[in-house]
Amino acid sequence: MKSTKSKVNACYHLSYEGKFLDHCGVVGIVADSQVSPLIYQSLRALQHRGQEAAGIAVFSEAVACSKGMGLVHDVFNEETLNALKGKAGIGHVRYSTTGSSSLQNAQPVVVSSSAGDLALGHNGDIANTKALREDLKEKGWAFITTTDSEVIIRLLANEIVATDDIIRSMKNLMRMLVGSYSFTLLANNRLFAARDPLGIKPLCIGKLDNGYVVASESVAFDAIGAEFIRDVMPGEVLELSKAGIRSSHYPKPKHQAHCMFEWVYFARADSVMDGKLVYDVRWRIGKCLATDYPVEADLVIPVPDSGRTHALGYSAASGIPYTEGLIKNRYVWRTFIMPKQLVRKQDVRLKMNPIRYIVEGKRLVLVDDSIVRGNTMERIVAILKDAGAREVHVRIGCPPIIAPCYFGIDMKTRDQFIACERTIPDIAKTLGADSLGYLNFERLWECIGLNKNDLCLGCLTGEYPVEIPGEKLRFQKRIEGFQ
Ligand code: SF4
Repeated sequence: MKSTKSKVNACYHLSYEGKFLDHCGVVGIVADSQVSPLIYQSLRALQHRGQEAAGIAVFSEAVACSKGMGLVHDVFNEETLNALKGKAGIGHVRYSTTGSSSLQNAQPVVVSSSAGDLALGHNGDIANTKALREDLKEKGWAFITTTDSEVIIRLLANEIVATDDIIRSMKNLMRMLVGSYSFTLLANNRLFAARDPLGIKPLCIGKLDNGYVVASESVAFDAIGAEFIRDVMPGEVLELSKAGIRSSHYPKPKHQAHCMFEWVYFARADSVMDGKLVYDVRWRIGKCLATDYPVEADLVIPVPDSGRTHALGYSAASGIPYTEGLIKNRYVWRTFIMPKQLVRKQDVRLKMNPIRYIVEGKRLVLVDDSIVRGNTMERIVAILKDAGAREVHVRIGCPPIIAPCYFGIDMKTRDQFIACERTIPDIAKTLGADSLGYLNFERLWECIGLNKNDLCLGCLTGEYPVEIPGEKLRFQKRIEGFQ
């Protein structure tokens, strides 16, 4: 398969299970007590959104920031948290898609300006970073990191110095940015948050007994006993204080473009996102797969953990018993770059082992959320057949992935998608599956419960909600054109 469109040559990194890696998770808390322990717990609940680095910034007399490489509980301990004193703060977990994986690129990004200390936590990808960075460089700015987040905070610092009005500065910034972003901002002791005008990345608001919290997913609120209030609206800019929330809006777009993958795979099943419980969406997807792709089989088994809820839905609708036929080794940590195919194959076997006693002689429905490159699924089918499965029928909880993501999901080239320019029977043959069924488009938005025009489907259609050089634009000419 040759890419005809994408000129980007970079490889993308997948998780151990052959899944996309999300970019980041953000949190911001303001309260009348120390916030760093609460930020720490929230970040642990958001750990699935980024495992490379974690950081917390709080304001006391100045912004103090601590960050490190690794999981949240490896980066912070009682001593480091006690040193972060302040009643307003932000936190971040990171997986790198722009900028390399290094401590320097970990977030929050902190800058000092004549307007005071600023700390930013960003989830998303800014498509026009290069042009914005060049522009700032021409104006004499030097950059410490290679991330788009530093470009954002430097642009914002410029605006705040020029306008002396943080909300206005954030709106001005949003006019310059093309892409996806949810961010939390600590400006001295004040906490702000914003979500991109298309709502590509999630962000929601919770209430504490003594303050407020914003986070990428509602599971962060559950972890700290906060009450979910609502999602941040696309294009909404917020200031959160102990007294309440001040909201302001960027001009409202005609359409939204929520990332459909949040419901299909990225978000935790126990999160509520844009009004939809992720678990329910996945269960409905499984049910639709059973209706649309019925098959005579003995057992429904999930690819753990990503296909579990979809498989439960499939089982409930088909009446075929659900069971665990593959056991995941939770103690093998992933390596980010697995250069050789052979190593990848061995890794799959190390990560997932079939229960021979259960699968031997059985006709299986194997359910997962998505297929990216296909190597992992191919290996899993082979593992099950080696263990004696008579038939393996693969059911996938979203349409085929055929195009890159430019909005913070680590896949930038078409070349390696198994579904790119191939038919379903051809893909099934490559996987070694006895049959293959992908969720169709109509079912996808039906299961999510949103209008198709309010979802980003870029990686499924190759049509994007904002202008990406060399790619097809889905609706409007430019983001500034929304009214
Ligand atoms: S291109 Fe795909 S993964 Fe990226 S934001 Fe859009 S729907 Fe999500």
